[in-house]
Amino acid sequence: MQTGKANDAAMIDADDETYPEIRREIRRLCADFPGSYWQALDRERHYPTEFVARLMEGGWLSMLIPEELGGSALGLTAVTAMMEEIHRSGCNGGAAHAQLYTMGTLLRHGSDEQQAQYLPAIAAGELRLQAFGVTESASGTDTTRIATFARREGDHYIVTGNKIWISRAEHSDLMVLLVRTTPREDCAKPSDGLTVLLVDMREAIGNGLTIRPIRTMLNHGTTELFFDELAVPVASRIGEEGKGFRYILSGMNAERILIASECIGDARFFIERASAYASEREVFGRAIGQNQGVQFPIARAWAQTTAAAAIVDRAAEQYDGGSKAGTLANTAKLLASEASWFAADMCLQTHGGLGFAEESDIERKFRETRLYQVAPISTNLILSHISTHVLGLPKSF
Ligand SMILES: Cc1cc2nc3c(=O)[nH]c(=O)nc-3n(C[C@H](O)[C@H](O)[C@H](O)COP(=O)(O)OP(=O)(O)OC[C@H]3O[C@@H](n4cnc5c(N)ncnc54)[C@H](O)[C@@H]3O)c2cc1C
Repeated sequence: MQTGKANDAAMIDADDETYPEIRREIRRLCADFPGSYWQALDRERHYPTEFVARLMEGGWLSMLIPEELGGSALGLTAVTAMMEEIHRSGCNGGAAHAQLYTMGTLLRHGSDEQQAQYLPAIAAGELRLQAFGVTESASGTDTTRIATFARREGDHYIVTGNKIWISRAEHSDLMVLLVRTTPREDCAKPSDGLTVLLVDMREAIGNGLTIRPIRTMLNHGTTELFFDELAVPVASRIGEEGKGFRYILSGMNAERILIASECIGDARFFIERASAYASEREVFGRAIGQNQGVQFPIARAWAQTTAAAAIVDRAAEQYDGGSKAGTLANTAKLLASEASWFAADMCLQTHGGLGFAEESDIERKFRETRLYQVAPISTNLILSHISTHVLGLPKSF
């Protein structure tokens, strides 16, 4: 396996980029979790418990929490630097990223009591907020048609329904859950009547919540959830009843920006690996990278990634400025996921047969980065947002 030089390339100094200290520390941490660690987990579809524990111990998953509640009070711009470096190092932040993006819903819309109750424990690494429950099989992307219903009974909501593709549910203590509290047909707008609940998974499992793991083409710990008369205290509702769609969008926009930064990290991983391999692999008596047919796709991937990264930075800055950043968050996710997918395909092609070997890490990263054209929002739906919300074209749905 000729990957030694490629590993060096993955450690290219990033001093000229944002948050160099965060990047340096994260690269150091990730060096303890080499490809062999991820390959073994991937084979068995096991959760990277040790990796996530190290991130929690280092305070990396509480970067957004205010200092007085135990966090480091940084913004999404700092978090994007971290996620990019995790992915650039060959690791996968998908196991832990939800704690950072769901934070938007709790930080911007949770009550003072809820923040005081949960955030210090999350910051101390005692509580995990890693599950985000929105998608349902029948409604798909059409979120306002979710059918999981919470009816009010005294000081509890009683939740019935099911969710699909809810990742990390088996590895989280809390879940941000979107439910309907007023039937869609009784609402003035389809997005009315939705409510956000913060569910304590430790109490819920076995008392109305059942989790069924789904095996997928990548190791993402995703599951199906079944709610059968699950009682959730009204005190666990985030914000007002019926206004949940607006609150969940804060988390969704943060999610799109963070996942875009993961895609930038993936793309840089592929570009660095491809450049290193193309320089050292000799066929027909010369380095394959001497052929422009091999060089140009690598150069194109670099150009696409550099452009997408600039939009990811702008989206994170806009979000940190207090804006919803919806259009830039969507645009960043679109461009970054396309850049990482192009880079993944280019890298596999550059490596020839070697790219298909498990020990190269390329086939694993190739599968991992493909997800981001579909989740958390598919490419078509982003194009639809730009068409109708930015360009004023007629709505198609
Ligand atoms: C591994 C994995 C992890 C996930 N984790 C989570 C999670 O933690 N929490 C959570 O809530 N969800 C999660 N999801 C769900 C994910 O967000 C959805 O899969 C995604 O939003 C797409 O929804 P869908 O699968 O229902 O596709 P559908 O809505 O059924 O769409 C199918 C295809 O049709 C296209 N399409 C649909 N309508 C239109 C239209 N009007 N115009 C053009 N094209 C259209 C879509 O772009 C898509 O390509 C996860 C999914 C996966 C695969």
